[in-house]
Amino acid sequence: MSYEAVIGLEIHSELKTKTKIFCGCATTFGAEQNTHVCPVCLGLPGVLPVVNKKVVEFALKAGLALNCTINKFSKFDRKNYYYPDLPKNFQTSQFDLPIAEHGYVDIEVNDTTKRIRITRIHMEEDAGKLVHAGDTIKDSASSNVDYNRTGVPLIEIVSEPDMRTAEEARAYMEKVKSILEYIDVSNCKMEEGNLRADVNVSLRPTGSETLGTKAEMKNLNSFRMVENALEYEIERQEEILEDGGHVIQETRTWDDNKGITLSMRTKEKAQDYRYMPEPDLVPIITTDEQIAAIKKTLPELPDARRDRLIDDCGLSSYDAGVITNSREMAEYFDAVIKQNVDAKLAANWIMGDLAKNLNAAGKTIAESPVSAKNLAKMIKLIQNNTISSKIAKKVFDEMWQSDNDPELIVKEKGLVQITDTDAIEKIVDEVLLGNPKPVADYKGGNTKSIGFLVGQVMKASRGKANPAMVNKLLKEKLSQ
Ligand code: ADP
Ligand code: ZN
Ligand code: MG
Repeated sequence: MSYEAVIGLEIHSELKTKTKIFCGCATTFGAEQNTHVCPVCLGLPGVLPVVNKKVVEFALKAGLALNCTINKFSKFDRKNYYYPDLPKNFQTSQFDLPIAEHGYVDIEVNDTTKRIRITRIHMEEDAGKLVHAGDTIKDSASSNVDYNRTGVPLIEIVSEPDMRTAEEARAYMEKVKSILEYIDVSNCKMEEGNLRADVNVSLRPTGSETLGTKAEMKNLNSFRMVENALEYEIERQEEILEDGGHVIQETRTWDDNKGITLSMRTKEKAQDYRYMPEPDLVPIITTDEQIAAIKKTLPELPDARRDRLIDDCGLSSYDAGVITNSREMAEYFDAVIKQNVDAKLAANWIMGDLAKNLNAAGKTIAESPVSAKNLAKMIKLIQNNTISSKIAKKVFDEMWQSDNDPELIVKEKGLVQITDTDAIEKIVDEVLLGNPKPVADYKGGNTKSIGFLVGQVMKASRGKANPAMVNKLLKEKLSQ
């Protein structure tokens, strides 16, 4: 029998507010343990939380950017459970009246667009962190609890089970990250745990409409992990079903070193959490005016920006997608083409040499040693035939090292393209004289040998001869 995978994601994103959700403690990452704490986030008796307005604003922004309906009456609830990183023994979250519902994002996989529905977005506080003496809790004699993260604001974005492959799940998470970056509500630094996903997956016979039993993998904080864990889990469940067994509903962990998922605990149900309304916080009332005001602050979002690059700049849908996936890259691209530079050339350089160098150096495009202004200047030198694309690679490497002005580099290194017919003719003549065999081959009908001769001329000119002129001159001379 063949099976179809059904996947739904719960994405947690830390919001980039300066202070925590219910108190004035700083949210800064990496501070010394238990230095950003107060009676409120430690849950001491007698304290009263007050909701951070910025959190509500950011959640509304995310809701609108993810095409949700905003609930004008929304409230907080207590989700009760015990764990040492949760000092109050409940997490202040939202249950039946989340801030936003019924949204969607569109993803592109294999050249087709697919809509993934978003069930809900709710606000909640993050828990603290256990810091183990050893690598894992099992081989540690002791663990410290660090409450700095306790009360850092989160939004949880819950999708419908609309994804069918690991690739779609990855594309979905990438799109959500991209949108959150565009609207500037989260740092989205996945390695710092700013953005992490609980991944739910089940299998069902192809063609069936009913959902199978799912397993959930918690806290995956890289795209690669989401993809790998899903691929592994789909195979594991398939084997169970093929052997006539049943998948059990449980929470599993992804062991990234071993590349396998392991059973952690059977899944708790909503009633296990004894959700109850939070009595210490007032409900959140949102007005049409507030919603309209926040809508106005939304920037052009990735999909709209991609369409603009396709329609106005003539980029392919793939190139436009890559460039607009990151807001920083889209802004860099815009800064380059603002200098009246050919958009396709700009896209090729940004996605090619620039991206390659950035990757190798572990830098983001905002940290690029080659400024958008200088890259634009260099591309103009190609467009007006001052340098060939081949020489441009040398100029680019030099810019990467020094961030010098490309015009200066070209002058100092004598890299200006030779477009003087006489000068090129001189080299062509020498090459023709020195290579009688390929010349005879060409004249004998093997026209491919011209490639070799072009190569020799380019080499003799140290890459500076204009290739189109070399080709033209060689052809003329060889057919004389
Ligand atoms: P739970 O009660 O276990 O938290 P929810 O209904 O809240 O489950 O759904 C959590 C996530 O799991 C959602 O993203 C949802 O789309 C997804 N999901 C629910 N049922 C399934 C299923 N049978 N297979 C795959 N994903 C599912
Ligand atoms: Zn505090
Ligand atoms: Mg749930």
